[in-house]
Amino acid sequence: MGPSLSTVISEKDLHKRIKEMGDVLTDKFKSAPVVAICVLKGSFIFFSDLIRQIECDMTCEFLSTSSYGNNAHSSGEVKLTMDISSSVQGRHVLLVEDIIDTGLTMSYLQKMFEIRKPKTITTVTLLHKPDAKKVDCKIDLVGFKIPNEFVVGYGLDYQNQYRHLPYIARLENLN
Ligand code: 5GP
Repeated sequence: MGPSLSTVISEKDLHKRIKEMGDVLTDKFKSAPVVAICVLKGSFIFFSDLIRQIECDMTCEFLSTSSYGNNAHSSGEVKLTMDISSSVQGRHVLLVEDIIDTGLTMSYLQKMFEIRKPKTITTVTLLHKPDAKKVDCKIDLVGFKIPNEFVVGYGLDYQNQYRHLPYIARLENLN
């Protein structure tokens, strides 16, 4: 039997929550320009929807990390595979993640950016698996807390598939 999908967060619930998150971030950044940073690849859809709900002066940057290789279990090692293309020194940074599982990726990125001396760092994640947390990292805004299970859709993949699903699904019957 191949993998099967069941909905964890519907398209409607995603959009409602992302609008709320946008309002919180508009309040925070309305008087100060921000550099919004998309952590590729998984955040690309969340990032695109979120930034359109934030009313402020904004520039967008993209970086890429890898930690999972090609399977559903963390390798425990984070690598920066593509960096942003401008300086964040003295600027407000908004780091946008798709999901925080062990916290390794976010903790790695926070340390990396602290060295670059931004004015502030705000971290946002769409999904948070509190039960899987191994490493402490600062998270300012969470979209949804989810149980410790592997999810796909809305940018999140399994072997590069399922990113295009407009909702978050649990992937069952993985071999
Ligand atoms: P962490 O470093 O916090 O363990 O994991 C962060 C990264 O692992 C995320 O950016 C994401 O790429 C991947 N990840 C963690 N949990 C899941 C999951 O349930 N589904 C998918 N597709 N990716 C996950």
